[in-house]
Amino acid sequence: MDEAQALLRLQEIDLETIRITNDAKKLPQHAKIAAAQAALKKVQGELVKIVGQRKDLQMDIEGFDRLRGDAERLEQQASQDFQTSADARAVADLESRLNAVTKRIEKIDYQQNQALEQLITVERAEKNANALQARLQNELAQLLGSLKQELLDSQNRLTALKREREEVAALVSPEMQARYNRANERFKGRAVETLTGNKPSSCRVALQPAQYADLKRRKLPVDECPYCHRILITDWH
Ligand SMILES: [Zn+2]
Repeated sequence: MDEAQALLRLQEIDLETIRITNDAKKLPQHAKIAAAQAALKKVQGELVKIVGQRKDLQMDIEGFDRLRGDAERLEQQASQDFQTSADARAVADLESRLNAVTKRIEKIDYQQNQALEQLITVERAEKNANALQARLQNELAQLLGSLKQELLDSQNRLTALKREREEVAALVSPEMQARYNRANERFKGRAVETLTGNKPSSCRVALQPAQYADLKRRKLPVDECPYCHRILITDWH
């Protein structure tokens, strides 16, 4: 590989390096991971609310159990008193107490049933949210694994290119490297062009016959484009 070929390869390596670096930033996993993380955060927020509702309902249901126990004891007591009581007024009073406590038990049962129905709904929602959370966590783990693999692949290719660049750069004189670096900056990674017929490959402006004749007379393998001033690789053989 001569210096002219080395300059062309240097440009290819630099362009490939930029392409790989940009592709790594634009990998579809980045957006998918962000979406999965947002969805996971949302479902976790919902789960906190659902679990809170479920615990409240469970406490309510236990509370109704206690209230029912209290009411049942009152009912038993009133029922016993009713059997042993002989006084007509006391009997009437006990009857109304029994009615009241029976109504109270009915009301407790009704409220407890409502709470139980709500609990079934909330438990179903909790189960669904847990399943969604598990699915998202799994999806996220897979995406992170695949992103890591792709980034590792990119890293390996970049390392190989870096190694090759060192070898290729060693074939280019320090002065030419400095010229390449300046042109590279000016022409955004397209410092070098080749000449095919009378057309340079990057600026693609057909050279005037006099310009072409000058290049041909000099026969420099590494020249400069008279139009855009890129490094111009020529091949007069
Ligand atoms: Zn040019």
